[in-house]
Amino acid sequence: ATPTALLVGTGRGAQLGILIKGPEVLESTRRVDTVVLDKTGTVTTGQMSLISVHTAEGENEQEVLRLAGALEHASEHPIAKAIAKAAGDVPAVEEFQNLEGLGVQGVVGEHAVLVGRERLLAEWSVRLDSGLAEAKKAAEDQGRTAVIVAWDGKARGVLVVADTVKPTSVEAIQGLRALGLRPVLLTGDNEAAARTVAREVGIDEVIAEVLPADKVDVVKRLQDEGRVVAMVGDGVNDAAALAQADLGLAMGTGTDVAIEASDLTLVRGDLRAAVDAIRLSRRTLATIK
Ligand code: ADP
Ligand code: MG
Repeated sequence: ATPTALLVGTGRGAQLGILIKGPEVLESTRRVDTVVLDKTGTVTTGQMSLISVHTAEGENEQEVLRLAGALEHASEHPIAKAIAKAAGDVPAVEEFQNLEGLGVQGVVGEHAVLVGRERLLAEWSVRLDSGLAEAKKAAEDQGRTAVIVAWDGKARGVLVVADTVKPTSVEAIQGLRALGLRPVLLTGDNEAAARTVAREVGIDEVIAEVLPADKVDVVKRLQDEGRVVAMVGDGVNDAAALAQADLGLAMGTGTDVAIEASDLTLVRGDLRAAVDAIRLSRRTLATIK
């Protein structure tokens, strides 16, 4: 490909709200056949809100929210923001720890508190009572995310949060399919919530409950199967996978780490720009041929 034609493509990209790291990037998009999409913040807005609070027998709703809010106040996760906002004024937390892709822990007053996935609780040998387990399942079946709140060795409540699909995602997925690309939804969230979002936007293939460190392995596995993979993401937890992908696309609304790891940035955080980027590169290269 002649550098001039590629540079013209680069300029057109800027007009479409696509920042391209270098002209050579357009060449690698040509053979892409699979597009792996992060769920939270990429396909969805990532702006979550608290839907409901469920408590274990004898626990107080306000107290569950207050202690969870205290911890989440210290976290940047979209789930954390929703919980912290709903909790309002909260007490201070000590020994705070962010457990990537699992949750958070810390000490509030005299309580050792844990907020996050059930898997995290299992490591502490904490179990849900049947009421909480039911509330969690019902929420997940509706495509929501259920977060468990535990302290001093006992599960005290379940907080249900929900995200919304970006209005532009459905059209973007249709656009990817029209280009003959296979979309795959990749997330650390639970299977049921992931499936619900996938159904909403028209994706059949879902890889859920993937820990942040394992997202890169999913991309490698697809590549080992002979696929040429584009990955679209926004989070710190997507950075390694974005770098590993044959083409990494970052949401401009996402984290700096994700943007740095990518070949392309979709400035407005609109997934339709991913379709434009791939179409543009094909067209640019066709002009050269
Ligand atoms: P995604 O891949 O969708 O961006 P993450 O890998 O960031 O999701 O998180 C995966 C799961 O871990 C969440 O769905 C949630 O259950 C749990 N989790 C992560 N961080 C937190 C937090 N700060 N508070 C509560 N739960 C959390
Ligand atoms: Mg994300």
